[in-house]
Amino acid sequence: MSVLPDGEACREQTLGEIHAAALGQPCDGQVADYIPALASVDASRCGIAFATLEGEVHVAGDADMPFSIQSISKVFGLVLAMQRMGDDLWQRVGMEPSGQPFNSIVQLEWEHGIPRNPFINAGAILVADTLVSHFSSSRQAFLSFVRRLAGCERCDINEEVLASETRHGSRNAALAYLMKSFGNIEAEVEDVLAHYFFQCSLEMSCRELATSLLFLANRGVHPLSAERVTTPRDAHRINAILSTSGMYDQSGQFAFSVGLPAKSGVGGGIVAIVPGQGIISAWSPALNQHGNSTRALKMITELAGRLGLSIY
Ligand code: GLN
Repeated sequence: MSVLPDGEACREQTLGEIHAAALGQPCDGQVADYIPALASVDASRCGIAFATLEGEVHVAGDADMPFSIQSISKVFGLVLAMQRMGDDLWQRVGMEPSGQPFNSIVQLEWEHGIPRNPFINAGAILVADTLVSHFSSSRQAFLSFVRRLAGCERCDINEEVLASETRHGSRNAALAYLMKSFGNIEAEVEDVLAHYFFQCSLEMSCRELATSLLFLANRGVHPLSAERVTTPRDAHRINAILSTSGMYDQSGQFAFSVGLPAKSGVGGGIVAIVPGQGIISAWSPALNQHGNSTRALKMITELAGRLGLSIY
């Protein structure tokens, strides 16, 4: 059963009101510019989608406009790595919140090249290493996987963002080389970074993102294709780490005020998993100091509050 108020018009209206309220307030925050190609995105863009397990997608605003999913790609990478590696993966990456900015390097040396979790950059680069080592073409495998989940052959990377990330990727390269020095990266660092930058530069719309992740709200089975993407145990584990680490060093505050597993990206997108019900995906490019979209955060907070969606 969908939790939105009954009736198609009423459902769209709830999202429409939340979207209008977010647009009506002054937009705090700044578009990410440390990846120069992201700085040219129109900051007034704003969209939200709620995909339900029944196959309905309710939308408002720019919900069909593709945007750079950035760190939200870390979820897809992790799912693929868990499928391939099983429990061995957890020997090489942790499951604890870092309490640090997403691209921080300090903890990594203290902790001997084992990243705190798969949703900070170091963790996702480690996951990228496992994909490069397990697939003959990890980038193609990644893209096919996401397209299948989203039911969208059109989803693709943005070449300009990819080139920009690659050119300005010194910090990610530093994280990768540090892990390599501890023996926790197996493949060539260049290949690992190429995969990592590739997945970050994928573009999807709110509608496509929400649809693609429905399996996380459904104990691992994608409700539209009936494909079992993960075991119930792995769906539980991914949602658990999303709850504690998906919003970086704002994860505690997000749990406190919203109470849903979620993942953000510096493209301005946030996805939130509503177990047993569906996926919310919101996007607006301006970010707060933690790298999370201010308007997407407002819209998801409002929707979760109005519909009583907290899992706690
Ligand atoms: N591509 C970005 C980076 O590596 C992803 C970070 C993010 O979305 N938080 O810094």
